[in-house]
Amino acid sequence: VIKTHDVVVIGAGGAGLSAAIEAKAAGADVIVLEKMPMAGGNTLISGAEYACSNNWLQKKEGIEDSIELHIQDTLKGGDNKGNEELVRVLAENALAGAEWLRDEVGVVWEDELMFFGGHSVKRSLVPAGASGKEIITKQLAKAESMGISVLLNTKATDLIVDENGKVVGVKAEDEKTNYTFNTNKAVIIASGGFGSNIEMRKKYNPDIDETILSTNSTGSTGDGITMAEKVGADLVGMEYIQTYPICDPLTGTLLYYDDARLYGHTVIVNKEGKRFVEELGRRDVMSMAIKAQTGHVCYELIDQKGFEASKLQENHEPELDYLYKNDLLVKADTIKEAAEFFGIDAVELQKTVDKYNGYVADGKDPEFNKRSLPSTIEVGPFYILKATPAVHHTMGGIKINTKAQVLNKEGNVIEGLYAAGEVTGGVQGANRLGSNALADITVFGRIAGQNAAK
Ligand code: ADP
Repeated sequence: VIKTHDVVVIGAGGAGLSAAIEAKAAGADVIVLEKMPMAGGNTLISGAEYACSNNWLQKKEGIEDSIELHIQDTLKGGDNKGNEELVRVLAENALAGAEWLRDEVGVVWEDELMFFGGHSVKRSLVPAGASGKEIITKQLAKAESMGISVLLNTKATDLIVDENGKVVGVKAEDEKTNYTFNTNKAVIIASGGFGSNIEMRKKYNPDIDETILSTNSTGSTGDGITMAEKVGADLVGMEYIQTYPICDPLTGTLLYYDDARLYGHTVIVNKEGKRFVEELGRRDVMSMAIKAQTGHVCYELIDQKGFEASKLQENHEPELDYLYKNDLLVKADTIKEAAEFFGIDAVELQKTVDKYNGYVADGKDPEFNKRSLPSTIEVGPFYILKATPAVHHTMGGIKINTKAQVLNKEGNVIEGLYAAGEVTGGVQGANRLGSNALADITVFGRIAGQNAAK
């Protein structure tokens, strides 16, 4: 089957849908190809928190922030391996992206900010239900209302190039049919990262082998990277693979129970009952610290106050049920009882908690410098979660410029080809800060869509 469209978008995650909506709004005829039976990708299964400086909730809470500070945090958080120009585009357009999601797409943001590790201030918006479902559901509805078709179960396999090296279409397939989609204007690659492709992981970073589980959608196999590479695209930062510290030790799934940590309410200990890392530290630092503990696991403790303040029951009840059933989470009247459930040294744990409560009272943690100490741990019942790190995000990928155009190895633009989202490299450096991904995919997805339609 041969078809022609102005713009073809590969991947129906947050980046691809943002791009499709913007390209269509700019007057282009757009189609989206999605290889999985449903749209959403990693965006759907993420918490979808969104970092942007100078947002309306910061104003309400009197939090001082700036675009410059967001840039500095992002660069520093990425070990200064990020491309400053791209980071600037991210930070400068993040608020507009969040407002666009709110006002044009209909995304509902909660009334409270989250504080993610590596950010200097609280700047992260939270979508309704603290889940990417809110983003994807609203984007799909918007796309449908605009007449954009999203072809599910349709996998892009190759880019088509003309004699001048310009990208002029995509080859794709579903179970029965081979497609050729010709483009009048451009192809946008928004096919996500490669966290679920163990071979590709090992090729670029041998440490991230099969022993490490993954939080990613099974669709995150780096297809777009492979396709782009074949037409000469440059890749950047492929070795930078992020693990998330708090995942299911049985499946690798990221656990939203961890919201409690991001709200600042948790103490994290090892089997010996001792703290060993800043609970709001960087993901890689925390992950490696947890890996080094007994059994490669950690234990997150909160009390009833922290449990309620983190809205775990409201937002993540099915996950809690699963965790209780699988003995990964315990609720007990005393810290001792909770500790004993997992064989944690209860005496040490109590000492740790007493010390921690002292730090909360002083507003200062001399041991690990935890950057936010909102509440003590003293009101029962108490909850302990057992968790382990897993691959979460691949920072590297296709090299782009500030217009989201794909660059070749000589640094020249490959005509007719754009890329946005996790499939690209350079924005997040060596390490992505939590809640910077949603801003990244929205900002660059929009830019790719707007430019592709030109
Ligand atoms: P981002 O956050 O950058 O938007 P996501 O992981 O949310 O990335 O979305 C990427 C989407 O692209 C996923 O839904 C994934 O299934 C889809 N995808 C990956 N490879 C292909 C492919 N070859 N053809 C079509 N869709 C793809």
